[in-house]
Amino acid sequence: MINKISELRMHQVRFLLTCGWFLLIFSLFFDPISSWFTEPNNTLSPLRVVPEICVKVQGVCLKEDAYSLGAPIFWGAVIPIVVFMLLVFGHESWRRICPLSFLSQIPRALGKQRQYKITDKKTGKVRYELAKVKKDSWLARNHLYLQFGLLYLGLCLRILILNSDRLILGIFLLLTISCAIAVGYLYGGKSWCQYFCPMSPVQKIFSEPRGVLNSQAHFGDRQTITQSMCRTIGDEGKEQSACVACNSPCIDIDAERSYWDGITKVDRKFLYYGYLGLVAGFFIYSYLYAGNWDYYFSGNWAHQDGQILTLFNPGFYIFGNSIPIPKIVAVPLTLAGFTYGSYLLGMKLEKMYKAHLLRKGRFISQEQIQHQIFTLCTFVAFNFFFIFAARQFTALLIEPLEYLYNISLVILSTLWLYRTWGRSQELYLREGLASRLRKQLSLLKLNISKFCEGRSLDDLNPDELYVLAKILPDFTREKRLEAYKGVLRESIEEGWANSSSSLEVLQQMRIQLEITDAEHATVLATLGVENPDLLNPEKQRSRENTLRLESYRKALGKIISFHRRRSARGLGSELLEVVEGNKSLDEIIKSNPKALKSLKRQYGISWEEEEQILAEFDRDAEQIRKANILLSQLQEISFPPRPLSKSLRPEVLSALKFLGLSVQQQQWILIRSLLEILESFELTSAATNIARSMGAMKISLLPNLLKDPGDVWEQRLKPQIISLLKHSEENSGEAPEQVEPQEIVSHLEVLVQQSEPMMQIACLYVLYYLDFQRCKAIARQLLNSNQIANAFVEETAQKLTHWATSPDSPPATWKTVEKLVCLLNSEFLRGMKSEVLIELAYHGRAKSYGPNEIISDREKPCQGLLCMWEGEAQIRSTLSSGETIVENFLPGKTLNEIEFMTYADGNPMTVVSVKDSRILEIPTDTFESLLSGDNTFARRVFSKNNSSSKL
Ligand code: SF4
Repeated sequence: MINKISELRMHQVRFLLTCGWFLLIFSLFFDPISSWFTEPNNTLSPLRVVPEICVKVQGVCLKEDAYSLGAPIFWGAVIPIVVFMLLVFGHESWRRICPLSFLSQIPRALGKQRQYKITDKKTGKVRYELAKVKKDSWLARNHLYLQFGLLYLGLCLRILILNSDRLILGIFLLLTISCAIAVGYLYGGKSWCQYFCPMSPVQKIFSEPRGVLNSQAHFGDRQTITQSMCRTIGDEGKEQSACVACNSPCIDIDAERSYWDGITKVDRKFLYYGYLGLVAGFFIYSYLYAGNWDYYFSGNWAHQDGQILTLFNPGFYIFGNSIPIPKIVAVPLTLAGFTYGSYLLGMKLEKMYKAHLLRKGRFISQEQIQHQIFTLCTFVAFNFFFIFAARQFTALLIEPLEYLYNISLVILSTLWLYRTWGRSQELYLREGLASRLRKQLSLLKLNISKFCEGRSLDDLNPDELYVLAKILPDFTREKRLEAYKGVLRESIEEGWANSSSSLEVLQQMRIQLEITDAEHATVLATLGVENPDLLNPEKQRSRENTLRLESYRKALGKIISFHRRRSARGLGSELLEVVEGNKSLDEIIKSNPKALKSLKRQYGISWEEEEQILAEFDRDAEQIRKANILLSQLQEISFPPRPLSKSLRPEVLSALKFLGLSVQQQQWILIRSLLEILESFELTSAATNIARSMGAMKISLLPNLLKDPGDVWEQRLKPQIISLLKHSEENSGEAPEQVEPQEIVSHLEVLVQQSEPMMQIACLYVLYYLDFQRCKAIARQLLNSNQIANAFVEETAQKLTHWATSPDSPPATWKTVEKLVCLLNSEFLRGMKSEVLIELAYHGRAKSYGPNEIISDREKPCQGLLCMWEGEAQIRSTLSSGETIVENFLPGKTLNEIEFMTYADGNPMTVVSVKDSRILEIPTDTFESLLSGDNTFARRVFSKNNSSSKL
């Protein structure tokens, strides 16, 4: 809701509020007016002091005089309004108008922020980078405890002095403002709000995961500028992101994401459970101190004269007895006691709730349990807070209005509870992915009007969106893959997934769009080729970072287009010259250090980022950079297609064959991309260097690719380039030497890092027989590096690391791995989901046959799925003309019971023709359950059977 209001308007509101706040602070030092309203003889004012009313503190009536309203308004109205806003309008509403947050941005607005001096070790170049709180620093890890501590300290000070001592309150507020400005100077972004502000824990509790009228950052039209994200107004009057990625995930960009990200962290439990106690302790203390509730509800604590003089008076007055613990000790003791007690109670109740769920047999994720408990905590905290807060003012309302006020609070908090209770992390992720899919669907410009009955894509919920994706006739397989590629790219760019976790994170979407794991691997490889940096595991990605870089990119782009239109001088026109190839970037950087420096500082751009983004404007430099990355990838994944010097068991050879084919697929993608880059170049030294490097790699695939009649590379590339590339052809003509097992091991060490589960399992399998100790070490490395995305691969790696005996006695589960390796080379099953292959391997039975033994015939019909593992068989069927047809059933081939029915004689005889043949038999029930539960599998079976119909 509030996100629809323009930044310009919010800026005005912020400014007015800040002025109002300063006026209030000023009134704390000097206020000759407001006490008029509280004069005892001012009968016109509802706020007047009534001397006849006796409010007792520790058995003695408080002396009442006229007082100024600054402090009572601040404590009794401003703070409750903020809490109310957080729950109802969400975090974004307050953060966009918070005067303190606004003031903390003064150094940024003045361009005066701390910067680190960084000297490039190689070139000696010096640059300055905006200082930010480091992700792994003590502050980043413990800021929630620090903020909670500051909140606790603030509340103690409030009870002891700040509640009614206007002068000290004024100084305290000015000091807080100074601290916010100082933090704004020391660290970039909204570091004050993120890491220091004592109100931040309160904001988290009441506004996460979302307020009643919150906008959603992950769903809907997915604006680039979301919620209360940092933003500025550009030259053209349009809002633009000013994010410098000071925190990730950032509550200002997506409050719900920040909530789910930290839901199981220990500091969140402390925050939610402890805060309940802190609030309870704060209000209850006034009863423990005064000996009655009148003291609190009358609001006298906000204007009590000489409060500072009571610091060493008895801190408790219970059942008419004062307890001689000084107030200065009693207050922190009470608040700490309540906080700790409520934390312990929260932990205990959480355990009891989990035990209760277990007894009832209800299995809910840890995140969901935590969410339900936190939701209840917020609900209780809100209602408890408003039993006390603002009462000195609401008591002035006429009875029906006061009643309405109370009812409204309960209704709003119940509405919040109802909307929040059903949220889950899974739902959030599902909505997020659906919204990415929606974006891709709209980019494809499909005709959806016929299916949506007047609704737009934005109106559809995730389920409706997936149904639509399934039934849209225009949404062909290619378009599905294109849309999936877009979703995958965005998910990786924004840190939702990385190259290994994407397989799992996007699993549901693949099921819905019927995309196989192998297709996922191909799409991933293509993305890696288009943007080699994308899959770099060393790069920490986050939505915040992506936004920051995108904003910098846009800012540069805007300068260019601005100058293009106006043909002005300066950086823009010079960058334009770079785009048009008339100038090098180096010249620009040297001649415009100030202009670039200002942009870089604004977005906190590092040296590498600057180089990369500027290189994007320089097409040739970008192509060379990309080509170099592709060449190193090509070098890395090479796999020797030469015979081994040692004889190995057939399963190992089978796994090697699978790996060889997988590597060839990847090489094919990489080489094609390199050839496309070469095509785009003039004959420069860079182009010849790339071609020479490719030729020197002796890639067996390259000569065939060059001759591919579909791509006609020999016509598309310059003859000099072709001759350099063909160097590999000449080299490949040499007699292949045998390859030593150790060489294979070194290649497998690289290949196993690929996130594709079947490649990982094949690598581990081969390593097991080539170098047992190395295999164990690699399995351990994989487990430690979290590069395994599949549960079976993880289990296998774990078994291997704990397997102490020799490779001659493999673990029992190894049988499934062996069967899996057999299935990997099946043409029919190639590209199937890893889970399906694992299921087939798990249920499959290996059966040996002797020569001339019958596998199936009319008496013993084929059941389930057969996969030839080793050896050979013949399928003999008789046509209606009496002619007999013989087909070979060779290793890697499959037969299924439906396929058998397509033969003219129904059940042809299948006989083993080579001794010691082995067949992997998948039982009928497994085959049928896969047919009914996996659309891709069923489609594949039926299309195979249709194409091979022998009728
Ligand atoms: S991460 Fe970006 S949007 Fe969030 S507070 Fe920091 S600078 Fe602002």
